[in-house]
Amino acid sequence: MDWYIVDDYIETSNGLGMDMKEIIAAWIIKASPKDSQKKLAQERYEICEQCPKKETLFNNYKWSEYCGECSCLLEGKIFSRLYDGCPLHKWLTVEDKYLSESSVIKKDKTII
Ligand code: SF4
Repeated sequence: MDWYIVDDYIETSNGLGMDMKEIIAAWIIKASPKDSQKKLAQERYEICEQCPKKETLFNNYKWSEYCGECSCLLEGKIFSRLYDGCPLHKWLTVEDKYLSESSVIKKDKTII
């Protein structure tokens, strides 16, 4: 996959973009999550664990797990504030429990 940096976004050759601000926000949340953010991240991760698109750079190193669809490191991605942040929409089943309408940030064709 090719990457292009445009303003705050990394555009990819497959037409998806990564919002750098949202990536940083997710990692900040990961550093000190509220209980609900921790539970959401755990449930998202459980879905990723079953997903054939989950890849691992180095065996036995959880930090090196990434999404094969968007290339994001899962350790940070699962703390995203974005609704429907999974490129295959697999997280929707658990996100409704934790993300209220007021906190939902939707961005078409953007993943982190
Ligand atoms: S984010 Fe979605 S596509 Fe990527 S590994 Fe997780 S469940 Fe699979």
